[in-house]
Amino acid sequence: MTSQSERLLLEPRRVKLTTRSGTEVRRTLPHKNLRMIGAWCFVDHFGPTEDTAAMSVAAHPHTGLQTATWLFEGSVTHNDSLGSRQVISPGELNLMTAGRGISHSELSLHDASSLSGVQLWIALPNSVRAMPPTFVHHANLPEVQMGEARARVFMGEFFGVESPAVTHSPLVGVELKVSAGESIVIPLNESFEYGLLAAEGSFANAGQDIQFGEMIYLEPGGSSIEIVAHEDATIIVLGGEPFGEKILMWWNFIGRTHEEIVDMRIEWESASTIFGTVRDDLGERIPAPEMPHVRLQAR
Ligand code: MN
Repeated sequence: MTSQSERLLLEPRRVKLTTRSGTEVRRTLPHKNLRMIGAWCFVDHFGPTEDTAAMSVAAHPHTGLQTATWLFEGSVTHNDSLGSRQVISPGELNLMTAGRGISHSELSLHDASSLSGVQLWIALPNSVRAMPPTFVHHANLPEVQMGEARARVFMGEFFGVESPAVTHSPLVGVELKVSAGESIVIPLNESFEYGLLAAEGSFANAGQDIQFGEMIYLEPGGSSIEIVAHEDATIIVLGGEPFGEKILMWWNFIGRTHEEIVDMRIEWESASTIFGTVRDDLGERIPAPEMPHVRLQAR
């Protein structure tokens, strides 16, 4: 890639989710050195695990964001307060746009020997963040061959193909499968910043290894990046124009002010109609944590 762009290696931190089994995920965003990549503001990477029930997260609310669920192995049932009930398999996208408010649960199924994937959040710009919630399942996403690599485009446009998924700011999300020993040149949009996550296996760029679970961040300005896979690798490429708005992320909410977050929390705790009701096989809901004693600030 062009030399003026900065690179940053993001090591994941381990976070326990509020699940029955206390499933641990590897979180690369938000990171102490980086809050967002374009509108991408949350990257949780989980598995592989033979405990295929591990990703069972009971009903919880969201606001001001889209959630994108993407699996490498296994399957998960999504239920939400719109009445959507959808099983997702590898290579498919579950895209939930929370807008002003939605609630959902995700229950992994026992029909596979292993479970792994990513859960991604995309911040909604101020102009649309109060939109009505939607949920769309995309089972037929465009695929493109890039030399020896196969790319499946789940958000935005990449290498001449475009995902049908609705985006609200300029961004891209791609799954790249690269075989051991292959090197590829990934074209970049110069106005985008990028993160490349080693989601399965590992890869290297300019002599630097990006180990399983790590992400390399690229500032805007690069026109391409060459990577080599020393073993079979799945790379999640996330890119977007720098977001340009300050956001306030707290628990499962994205707002702009402390008061807004307080209100969202009260709405969930009082089971108000804003977040609706999730009908699933668990029949549980995750309570919001207590508000911190400090004033939350958009950053
Ligand atoms: Mn969620």
